[in-house]
Amino acid sequence: MSVKRHPTKFLREEYLALAEQDLDWKLKTVEGPSKPITVVEGKEVLLLCSNNYLGLATHPKLIEAAIEAAKEYGVGSGAVRAISGTMSLHMELERRLARWKRAEAALTYPTGFMVNSGLIPQLVDKGDLIVSEELNHGSIIDGCRLSRADRVIYRHTDMEHLAQVLDEAERHKPPYRRILIITDGVFSMDGDIAPLDEIVKLAEEHGAMVYVDDAHGEGVLGEGGRGIVSHFHLNHDQVHVDMGTFSKAYGTVGGHICGSEDLIRFAWNKSRTWLLSSSLPPPVVAATIAAIDVLETEPWHVRNLWKNTNYFRKAVQDLGFNTGRSQTPIIPIIVGESSKAKKLSEKLYERGIYVTPIVYPMVARDQARIRIQMHAQLTQEDLDRVIEALEEIGRELEII
Ligand SMILES: *Cc1c(COP(=O)(O)O)cnc(C)c1O
Repeated sequence: MSVKRHPTKFLREEYLALAEQDLDWKLKTVEGPSKPITVVEGKEVLLLCSNNYLGLATHPKLIEAAIEAAKEYGVGSGAVRAISGTMSLHMELERRLARWKRAEAALTYPTGFMVNSGLIPQLVDKGDLIVSEELNHGSIIDGCRLSRADRVIYRHTDMEHLAQVLDEAERHKPPYRRILIITDGVFSMDGDIAPLDEIVKLAEEHGAMVYVDDAHGEGVLGEGGRGIVSHFHLNHDQVHVDMGTFSKAYGTVGGHICGSEDLIRFAWNKSRTWLLSSSLPPPVVAATIAAIDVLETEPWHVRNLWKNTNYFRKAVQDLGFNTGRSQTPIIPIIVGESSKAKKLSEKLYERGIYVTPIVYPMVARDQARIRIQMHAQLTQEDLDRVIEALEEIGRELEII
């Protein structure tokens, strides 16, 4: 006789435990397109919490490309890449992406999460070491957990600590076979930039691989929005795995890596998330090719994004708000307690400004914030409206 157990009681109990601490997610439904002004649950709002930085998700060229591809190739690819899911469109996207990123080669995956969870455990295994930045994205954390390599976390952007970790790794017995340094390019909660040039220097001294997750840097940093490798004038002999996603500034969906031919061939032969999950649908692939066209031919989107970012960040700083370490279109307004961040977000929403609070456990307990993500198509008038609302609510809640 086995013990009497209720097989699914935990489902409700664990949820209730979260809800009691107000840590459960309450979903808000967006009823229009992901545009700077859209409709959320029947209410017209300014949208300040989307990754669609440049507005490409609704760009006419991308929409047209998706429609044409659906007509010509259908809406699904029908298979994983390795069977019959490699269409000429996928090959074209990878050629275009490699050229755009100035890399030898590129490879696309169904999502960015799947790059990190599928590739990291293939790059390093038992007898290897992963040196991972403290504030890395959850998909990197999961990728690292799927590897049997040893793991050390270095403190956020702390190059002295990274140097120390690498020095200690040299003394490990038996010597590590491989060392992988892995970092986000732009940190998604703070909007600061990893010192990739210094990381590369340390990696070169220790013969380590460098892997950067440029999800929030692509379409934002570097020449024309090429990303963090371009921003620091580096190349793919120095940054060995240049990983990203089309789900942010490119406005579509899909993960990718850029690097050497050797890396690309290794990755597609070894990543189970690539080999065993269906390839991107043709309309998505065609729209993403169009996104690269737009980045190459319409440089004003990236310029507008930065113009808005610089104007807005300075204005809220001048009002006395704490924007932390922000250097990019991710602009946190750090208020301290969770309850205050939630109040601020609610009051902004009442005024038709939608931005979610970011609280523990996503950030430390005393670092609760709202996180504003700038958009290239917000007008000066829109931004002034947000600044004015922030000033009034900020005083009311005694944040400034
Ligand atoms: C969004 C994000 C991912 C995941 O990308 P998807 O393509 O949406 O799965 C990975 N890493 C970072 C840093 C991200 O911000």
